Amino acid sequence: MKLKILGSGNIFSKHNSASCLVDDNILIDVPNGTCKIIKNIGIEPCKISEILITHFHGDHYLDMPFLLLNKIFDNSECSNVYCDSTGEEKIYNVTKLAFPNKVEKINNYFKYNYDKKFKINDYEIEKILLKHEEGIEAYGYIFNKNHLYVGFTGDSGICDNIEIMARKCSHLICDCNSIIGKKSHMGIDNLTSLANKYSNCIFYTTHMDDSTRKELEKLTLKNIIILNDNDEFIFED
Ligand SMILES: [Zn+2]
Repeated sequence: MKLKILGSGNIFSKHNSASCLVDDNILIDVPNGTCKIIKNIGIEPCKISEILITHFHGDHYLDMPFLLLNKIFDNSECSNVYCDSTGEEKIYNVTKLAFPNKVEKINNYFKYNYDKKFKINDYEIEKILLKHEEGIEAYGYIFNKNHLYVGFTGDSGICDNIEIMARKCSHLICDCNSIIGKKSHMGIDNLTSLANKYSNCIFYTTHMDDSTRKELEKLTLKNIIILNDNDEFIFED
């Protein structure tokens, strides 16, 4: 698996909003600025064929209208969008607000999948319900290829399913929003205890506040890696 970190910050951070790209065509979350970031690394946004959205907060999907615009402009193929069952309506509404005259073409370019388990290329992917804010369905995703398990938490506080992800994965891209964890987001305290408990898993911190990033730099745990925008990793299966 080739993993490109498009963004590693939260919305208040000077870093890009948290988002990842797998194998150049599987996008995990579509926050503000995603289309331009992708273009800047030499990939045409219209070539993104698979889009996984962790949850419907604006800093995780508000570039979808621009992705649609890129697709219309290039008359490119339809992308699969994996998300919760409110996704089609939410993406339609935000696109209608942004480009009312383009929204009638949306069904040519986005096809929705709400399954808990699905396959993309050679990956078996599992969608796992996590714990975020009231009224928000937030999911993490675990990719499995030949028993290489790589996880993406999206936004979540510490919960049983985060522990399941940490136990199962060898690499976990993990919300570490704040210095002290809250109900809706993990913090350095949560990450430290997870890293001590699940020593076979490497934790990659993302969705960080700038103050959290500074504080994380003081840690010496070998299995915590602080992500930066534009980092790239190759995970062998
Ligand atoms: Zn959120």
